[in-house]
Amino acid sequence: MKDQTSNSWEQRDMHNVFHGFTDLDTLNRNGPVVLTHGEGIHVFDVHGKSYMDANSGLWNNVAGFNHRGIIEALCDQARRFPGYHAFFGRIADTTVALSEKLIEISPFPSGKVYYTNSGSEANDTVVKMLWMLHRRNGQPQRRKIISRVNAYHGVTVATASMTGKAYNAEFGLPLPGFLHADCPHFWRFGRAGETEIEFSQRLARNLEELIIKEGPDTIAGMFAEPVQGAGGVIPPSEGYFEAIRPILRKYGIPLIADEVITGFGRTGAMWGSDKYNVQPDAIVASKCITAGYFPMGAVLLGPDLCAALTAVSEKAEEFPHGFTAGGNPLGSAVALKALEVLETEGLLENVNRLSGRFMSGLRQLGEHKYAGEARGVGFMGAVELVADKATKVALDGSYQISERIANKALEKGLICRPLGQAIVLGPPFVMTEVEMDRMFAILADTMTEVFAEVGL
Ligand code: PMP
Repeated sequence: MKDQTSNSWEQRDMHNVFHGFTDLDTLNRNGPVVLTHGEGIHVFDVHGKSYMDANSGLWNNVAGFNHRGIIEALCDQARRFPGYHAFFGRIADTTVALSEKLIEISPFPSGKVYYTNSGSEANDTVVKMLWMLHRRNGQPQRRKIISRVNAYHGVTVATASMTGKAYNAEFGLPLPGFLHADCPHFWRFGRAGETEIEFSQRLARNLEELIIKEGPDTIAGMFAEPVQGAGGVIPPSEGYFEAIRPILRKYGIPLIADEVITGFGRTGAMWGSDKYNVQPDAIVASKCITAGYFPMGAVLLGPDLCAALTAVSEKAEEFPHGFTAGGNPLGSAVALKALEVLETEGLLENVNRLSGRFMSGLRQLGEHKYAGEARGVGFMGAVELVADKATKVALDGSYQISERIANKALEKGLICRPLGQAIVLGPPFVMTEVEMDRMFAILADTMTEVFAEVGL
């Protein structure tokens, strides 16, 4: 730990903060990194050390950490009308304007927006919407939720149940009725001799079998990330969504695209749904919606689901659900500005301009003796480390290889993320070529040093 004096920021953190999603061994050994501010894509700790954040915070700080325009938009709104709720038919004008904008840029010809404070809350909200819809439609048994192995949909009780094992087993989850279909990761789960398209078709057949086995009229909906994020950056296998879509339609099962990571340009398209032909009934958004400057989640209901919910709601009164701070005008002002910045300051163009360079950087890391797969799209990517390239057998867990690499990179001033045995990168959309080359150079050196250290 850098500073052991009793009143250091590190010690004050250790005494007063209970960290989630933090490896406690590493925390106890190295202490926390306490940050004071950011400039561009770098953040600075209390000792003045700078770190290039190759994960955009948690995928969300895409415009850098000190964008003047977004900060001004927040301050202007704070001066005019800093907070209000969206209950009882009341709402801030700025939040109405944001809703209009979100539907305009959505893949839907029309629709409506429901606001939350996080991605978890937004997914949780959709589960309740679906349960209410089916119940009011005389199908109260339609409650089962399908997600997929390696999914990440959040941490509330319902969304942790939809999330993969790594995040729910500790809590005795999933709840009954939360089903996990196959993960469309061809490299990991494809069979010898099977083409990628055949693999996607096999997964679709398995999905149909699951639906039939469970009873089609017991399924409330299916949730899918266009690219699985926290599961290790897994773009769908070729033809996957084209193969599962007709099956879900056949059984009247709504498809919800969880675009908490992929929404607003991460894949190079505005939506992962556009990129991968998902054709969802609703989209769940968060993270980049405010470029990381304010907590916000949103459910974008497409026209059919919106009409269905409206029809039953008129008969049966309100949707008895809401978050005090959902639709807060500060967040709405920030989101409106962040979306303007995304469209008018060349952020989306930059992702597309540099995604080739990003992929080739990843592929170069993928040449490493212990790299099994380098994968990604747009500005999201991962290098999966393995003991043996041919058999894809994982490295012995005791090496803690990805954690070691991330910790060593941190020492060198680079923030990247270990996920299982993969190193994950999700750079800010404003990253330049020079910064990108530096990111890959640091990571390449780090990998060489760490593999030497552990004697591999
Ligand atoms: N869905 C996806 C795809 C996510 O990646 C995340 C967060 N990483 C969530 C939902 C949950 O969002 P939050 O952390 O804002 O609750």
